Amino acid sequence: MKHVIVIGAGIIGTTTALALAGAGCRVTVIDSRREAGLETSFANGGLLAANSALPWSSPGTPMQLLKWLGREDAPLLLRPRAIPGLGMWGVRFLANCRAAKYYKTAATLTAFGQQSLAAMERLLGQKRIDAGIQRGGLLELIRGKDAERRAESFARMLERMGAKVRRLDAAQSVALEPSLGGIAHSIGTALLLESDAWGDAHAFSVATAAAAEHEGVTFRWGSAVSGIDLQRGSVAGVRLADDYLSADSVVICAGAMSPSLVGPLGVRLPMAPVKGYSLTLRADELGFLPQRPIVDDYEHIGVTPLKDMLRVAGTVEFDGFDKTLRPGRVENLKRALTRLFPQIRMPAEVRPWCGLRPMAADGLPIISPTAVPRLFVNTGHGALGWTLACGSADLITSMVTSRSDARDTPFSLTRSFW
Ligand SMILES: Cc1cc2nc3c(=O)[nH]c(=O)nc-3n(C[C@H](O)[C@H](O)[C@H](O)COP(=O)(O)OP(=O)(O)OC[C@H]3O[C@@H](n4cnc5c(N)ncnc54)[C@H](O)[C@@H]3O)c2cc1C
Repeated sequence: MKHVIVIGAGIIGTTTALALAGAGCRVTVIDSRREAGLETSFANGGLLAANSALPWSSPGTPMQLLKWLGREDAPLLLRPRAIPGLGMWGVRFLANCRAAKYYKTAATLTAFGQQSLAAMERLLGQKRIDAGIQRGGLLELIRGKDAERRAESFARMLERMGAKVRRLDAAQSVALEPSLGGIAHSIGTALLLESDAWGDAHAFSVATAAAAEHEGVTFRWGSAVSGIDLQRGSVAGVRLADDYLSADSVVICAGAMSPSLVGPLGVRLPMAPVKGYSLTLRADELGFLPQRPIVDDYEHIGVTPLKDMLRVAGTVEFDGFDKTLRPGRVENLKRALTRLFPQIRMPAEVRPWCGLRPMAADGLPIISPTAVPRLFVNTGHGALGWTLACGSADLITSMVTSRSDARDTPFSLTRSFW
């Protein structure tokens, strides 16, 4: 039986391990943390935004970056000191902002998002995974200048990509989501993407890890991989601080840390860490809980009900690998939340968190073999790792077990990234 080592037990690693075990592989997962999903998969926005899976490199992004350069209160913050570190990644990211490339990537991501959501539903149907996934759609608020026209053009773009979109005016939006009553006057059009879902990515990581363990997958917690060994140019095993494990194949699912694991082998992953923040608030202290996720294009935040909690996520910060929780950025999220829900009673405890999105320069994940035989990567999912996890797991599994030739997919490492 083929022994596959998966490095990383975030949402991508746990779903990959489960899919590989289902395909008949003997699987060992190694993670430096003590449990699944404690890095970027921990407190993300929780959206399974399959029907609006869009890249960040959009035609409007370069202007926004310039407008907000160095501004601590901006939703998208490029710190001048981070610019040199972005190097060629930054140039490629900007090149991907051209309109034709943006639409092509958006269509690819949305199709893959829909496929991934279907893969997740299949998985939930087959295995006992209790992760509290909820269904009922995502509400996109389009507010501000020229909102109706922008909403219509956005809706048409999503429909062209296969999404089912319901247009709601302000009164219909508030009838559907009474918590929006305080900002009804500013809602131009809201778009309801009925087939989207949501849930807690950390809970899903833990639940898929447990399901994988049940299928015979071994987890090595608290073990950092220090290197990958080759024999005659091909993967032979991985080095841990106090151990060595041999493997037939290795799959890198190490999120933002993936490039540093494969770099010494000459494999370059054009990825950068993009920091984001979230707050988690108790519904009983807030006094209300929306019934479904709401994404507000005006405040650049998303709010998601997770059982008895509200998750608020947003902000984009280019700050290298620095994971410092900056109080100013937390305050920005709180202020944005107060503007979205003027009726809010801000709880004393808001549980702030930040994580590094593993972002590929062109906004597509990298799900691919590499130039090193039997070394695979499933990473670079950026702001969409939870949304794309189950489709990515199936795809990498078909590559590891040689059921498909990866080089033909849009997610191949051999693509241009321009
Ligand atoms: C604020 C915010 C909001 C977001 N909202 C959403 C959302 O609503 N929907 C969505 O789809 N996505 C969202 N995302 C993106 C999503 O969270 C990520 O794409 C996803 O978590 C990436 O998962 P991963 O498994 O690749 O990485 P991670 O979760 O970071 O997992 C990588 C794992 O690898 C381990 N590791 C790294 N190096 C080593 C090593 N040398 N040895 C052993 N182990 C190692 C780490 O310990 C970690 O557990 C959001 C991200 C942020 C920051």
